[in-house]
Amino acid sequence: MRQRALAQGLSLSEWGLFPKDAPNDNRVSLELHSEEELFAALGLAFIPPELREGLDEIEMAERRKLPELISIAQLQGALHNHTNASDGIHSLDEMARAAADLGWKYIGIADHSQASFQANGLSVERLLAQINEIKDGNASGRFPLHVFAGCEVDILKDGSLDFDAEVLNQLDYVVLSVHSPLTGMTEDAMTERICKALSTPLKVQKIWGHPTGRLLLRREPYKVDFKRVFQVACQQNVWIELNATPERLDLDWRILRQARAAGLKIIINPDAHSSAHLSRLQAGVNIARKAGLTSAEVVNCNPFPSARFLC
Ligand SMILES: [Zn+2]
Ligand SMILES: [Zn+2]
Repeated sequence: MRQRALAQGLSLSEWGLFPKDAPNDNRVSLELHSEEELFAALGLAFIPPELREGLDEIEMAERRKLPELISIAQLQGALHNHTNASDGIHSLDEMARAAADLGWKYIGIADHSQASFQANGLSVERLLAQINEIKDGNASGRFPLHVFAGCEVDILKDGSLDFDAEVLNQLDYVVLSVHSPLTGMTEDAMTERICKALSTPLKVQKIWGHPTGRLLLRREPYKVDFKRVFQVACQQNVWIELNATPERLDLDWRILRQARAAGLKIIINPDAHSSAHLSRLQAGVNIARKAGLTSAEVVNCNPFPSARFLC
């Protein structure tokens, strides 16, 4: 910014923006009342604070090519949420009510699969019963908004999924997540495991859940070759989750930028385990903004009219 000022015959400091050759003891700053006015005085579009990283934002501001960053009001709903059928604390109806109260147009329920026994993961029978309950509830108008039937399916150690395709194809979508084992695998082995899972032929939309498994200040992300996984995700039309749980914020904004550059679609999910957690979406929006994402790149800015829309 200072270099730009000098090139324009101005001098920029914490004291103001001055004509370069004005005497130090008697100079008057150009009248500026906001950051927006300062950027404009230097011939730049306003750069939102989230984007000020010394990357390419100055060039983009010069060319008026800065992205229009996503805002929370643009999100229409989210698809990774739990109920008390697995390890959430509120019922299906309570979650639906809370989502409607937040102004969501739809909510997706993705309880754990059977391998996540510590999280009370659903058996095939319980999952099928939940799918029916959701279908019936949508048909009868029991819910205050549309509910999508999903499942957070464990990616097993060999890259297979915790339920057969025949079962998963009855859902509206699946969130594919690594829960166990999380450690003790090489980067190659973990990459293979995830690529295989994301390549599973399914008739429903696949989402890669909390992609690195990190827990901030508690657990490091596992190592995975993002370039390879993103290639597979592109071929398979897999959506990449930005998990908005505050201790996860997974993916990291730097890697999200790579996902965006690879042409992938992002979905921001709260991974809510209670109705109060639904509002965690805001933390996800903050990270999405840091990654320079626009509403066009975040799939849950779409008003999905029906489950069919997802496929
Ligand atoms: Zn999970
Ligand atoms: Zn979850």
